[in-house]
Amino acid sequence: MGPDSRRLEELGLNSSTPPGQLLYDGWLLRMLPGKAKRARSVNAVYPSTLALERKIDALAFAVTGPSTNEWDQPYGAKTKDLVTPTQRRELGGLGIEIGSHSRTHCEMPLLAGDELTTEASGSLEDLRAGGLNPRFFAYPYGTRNASSKKAVADAGYCAAFGTAHRRVRRSDDRFDLPRVMIHATDRGWRFRTKTAAPRIWGSIERIRRTFSAAARRMTP
Ligand SMILES: [Zn+2]
Repeated sequence: MGPDSRRLEELGLNSSTPPGQLLYDGWLLRMLPGKAKRARSVNAVYPSTLALERKIDALAFAVTGPSTNEWDQPYGAKTKDLVTPTQRRELGGLGIEIGSHSRTHCEMPLLAGDELTTEASGSLEDLRAGGLNPRFFAYPYGTRNASSKKAVADAGYCAAFGTAHRRVRRSDDRFDLPRVMIHATDRGWRFRTKTAAPRIWGSIERIRRTFSAAARRMTP
């Protein structure tokens, strides 16, 4: 079977595979909820046609300090384990490039001096100590100002991401590129809309927030 016919067959199979499963270049990728390994697995079903290093073209950002999402918990978020240094290396081996999302997930415009350096350079050193060579940075909460951008540039990153809901443009500031947040619950049409039409998604989110704020004001 040639690459084209295999691709067509995959598209056909993908239209009937349950959400959370994807056939990709001969590999069955499972991203189902649950702790069982088979629910989150990669199975080489057919021979593949792409080189291993081109299989998964993705960039993920890691917070290097704490082992859980400590910064979210005071606001009622559930405790989530962060990827460990070993898992970061494993992801790197699967073709997912790891970037830095700071050391402690602080709002960088509130920091100065050593604290700022720790978030930018410190997290870079943490990732390097784990055998990675991070090139990109994502500002926690997307908040950044001139001094946060300078700290990240001085640390030696190639580029950094804020949180503008749009596609990247050639004229963009290299240390303030757009980024659309993807959560574990963003499956199926949510993932497709967020990635294919980030501006539209951003507008829907803004409208939704405005309505829920208005509804809260109207509630006695
Ligand atoms: Zn974050």
